[in-house]
Amino acid sequence: MPEEQAFKQVYLFSRDEIYLPIWEEESAPLEVQLGCSWHRCKFCDFANDPYHVFSLAEVEAKAQMLASISEGKTRVFLLGENPLSLPQEHLRGIFDAIDYWLPQVNQVAMYARFDDVMRKTDAELGELKERGLVELHVGLESGSQRVLDLMDKGIAVPSALRACERLHRIGLDFSFTMMAGAGGVALSDDHVRESVMFLNSAQPKRVWITGMLVWKGTPLAEMVRDGRFTPCTFNQRLVEVFNMVAGLRLDDCTFVDSTVMGQYTIKGHLPEQRDGMLAAMRQVYAMPGGDEVSPEVSRTPQAG
Ligand code: SF4
Repeated sequence: MPEEQAFKQVYLFSRDEIYLPIWEEESAPLEVQLGCSWHRCKFCDFANDPYHVFSLAEVEAKAQMLASISEGKTRVFLLGENPLSLPQEHLRGIFDAIDYWLPQVNQVAMYARFDDVMRKTDAELGELKERGLVELHVGLESGSQRVLDLMDKGIAVPSALRACERLHRIGLDFSFTMMAGAGGVALSDDHVRESVMFLNSAQPKRVWITGMLVWKGTPLAEMVRDGRFTPCTFNQRLVEVFNMVAGLRLDDCTFVDSTVMGQYTIKGHLPEQRDGMLAAMRQVYAMPGGDEVSPEVSRTPQAG
């Protein structure tokens, strides 16, 4: 086959829709990976998709395309569920492409898993910080080891807390995505109590809570069908979030719930806005319809 026919067409994005953490909606999204290297969480719809890492030539071409629609953007978000898992040399190439094609960018953020953090040396994390990495978004989902194990999340709480300590020491911010209802009805109390303990110990910069939904075609959907997992109702998830917020002792953290509360969003900065957030949640709890369980749905936001 002639060489030009063998050249693969590169697109800016591989899917019709891209999913960003709410904090990154103003960032320029540079696709470097599809899926994640773990690929096992029982609730995750993305685990059904093949894992793929884009070559540096493809990332370069994507960065060039991104430059034409990113005028004035000074922050890049690396699309992919855990780009921090990529070899350091590959990450260097990605930062080179950003420097070349998006020279105005001075901040880079990405999804990561705790084990990705632990596999990097201090020197490697420090190098990425020097190159512009400012924040890692981690899909924590729960601070309860029983819930994490039930969902096959691949997180050991002691190691995850050590990863947080390292990030604080190195000076890299980190934010968590959590899921209300992650333990179902059976592990709801564990989920709340141990998530509060985890968060108070880890001291993240931001927490984004979503409600656990059951996605078609996932192992979780099977668990629900055969009775091994009973999803929480809307009000049960709301009570979980209420109790979490009431127990949080965070020194400097922005907290957002954008899905548990249905059509409402609760957002506040802790510690000073905790009472206002709790009062807003009490009002939502008093509304009708709180005993409904969400039906199975298709396609989930990226989790990391
Ligand atoms: S939830 Fe995150 S870590 Fe788990 S399989 Fe999905 S993308 Fe990977």
